[in-house]
Amino acid sequence: MNINIEDLLKNEGSSLEIDYKGSVEGLESTVDSYTFKGPISFKGSLQNNKGKLHLTGLVSLEYSSPCFRCLEDVHGSAEIPVKEDILHVDKVTDKDDVFTYEGDYLNLDKILLDYIILNLPMKQLCKEDCKGLCPVCGTNLNEATCNCEEEKEINPKFDILRKFFE
Ligand SMILES: [Zn+2]
Ligand SMILES: [Zn+2]
Repeated sequence: MNINIEDLLKNEGSSLEIDYKGSVEGLESTVDSYTFKGPISFKGSLQNNKGKLHLTGLVSLEYSSPCFRCLEDVHGSAEIPVKEDILHVDKVTDKDDVFTYEGDYLNLDKILLDYIILNLPMKQLCKEDCKGLCPVCGTNLNEATCNCEEEKEINPKFDILRKFFE
């Protein structure tokens, strides 16, 4: 998403309303275990503070991702507050530390991408007490039981063998 900041830069103290719905470049490929449903929205404003741009707003998105334990699809949504200063590229010595702008357009994708990645849950569970999959036979233990656990306890030799191979 490129925002025309030509007028904003001309008037110190002025601000620009942003109401965006669409995609965020690089998002799907960065967090490829997530599927995003519908457009990602960003509502906020950009303020010219003596040539330093101050971005505030809220990113809203809906997604689904596999449960960390049982791999069932889990639906989730997030509202992520964004607060960021964006400096002119000439005023910055280390570009890796801050977001910068250059010319008459500001690309918001990089900023939104950063905020989204940092705020998505890394390990999402379908429910707090999800039992997960049996590591031996793969049965979803929320839906069925299997005998793997019992056999292991009955047969201590199996455990010794397993440790040997680990
Ligand atoms: Zn689960
Ligand atoms: Zn099993």
